[in-house]
Amino acid sequence: MNGILSLKKVLGLLLTSCTTYIIIKKLLPYYVRNKSLKKSKNDEKILKVLFFPDPKPTCALKFASRNGCTRARCNLSHEPSFASAQLLSCLFRTKHQLDVCIYVFTAIELGDLVINLHRSGVNVRVITDDEQVDASSSQIDRLRQAGIQARHDASSYLMHHKFAIVDKKLLINGSFNWTLTATTGNNENLMITNDSEFVDKFSEEFEKLWNLFDPKLFNATT
Ligand SMILES: [Zn+2]
Repeated sequence: MNGILSLKKVLGLLLTSCTTYIIIKKLLPYYVRNKSLKKSKNDEKILKVLFFPDPKPTCALKFASRNGCTRARCNLSHEPSFASAQLLSCLFRTKHQLDVCIYVFTAIELGDLVINLHRSGVNVRVITDDEQVDASSSQIDRLRQAGIQARHDASSYLMHHKFAIVDKKLLINGSFNWTLTATTGNNENLMITNDSEFVDKFSEEFEKLWNLFDPKLFNATT
């Protein structure tokens, strides 16, 4: 009887040891590896700084269209390291939501890009300064005619922000107004980050201003 019990105990111990061995040696590394892969994919840090001016204007077709540039001869830049190229590529990757809070918006290429995103189903919202809405080359009217919601302040103070949020995950912020002058003339900077602490704070600011500049509150137009 004792012999049988001991045999059962030994077999039990062996089974437990085997199971523990399999878990530790085989399954645990697999679990840890997969978990770390998932983590690194989700938490991949993006921190990029762009400086303007670029030496020449960038080809928006090359960096912000599905088919790329199909011109036989293109006089615009196809250089991917240019700040404009990186900005266009970054905005072009928007899938669901683009929030733009910009003091001056006159760059036609960026206007085209925003309208194309809107037409492809991206929810685009734009906030700008009231004094810039009717400025020469302003894209705001064009955006509104395309069906994009654009709001502005109604005060003598300036809505002087220059930031955009892509899919509520990526913040683009700096001194850069969305103008050709800022692209090829001025010394400007942009910082691009997916750090959620910054993205969340700027998203909160956007929502605050979006609600504050609701045209129903001051009888403006959208
Ligand atoms: Zn081109």
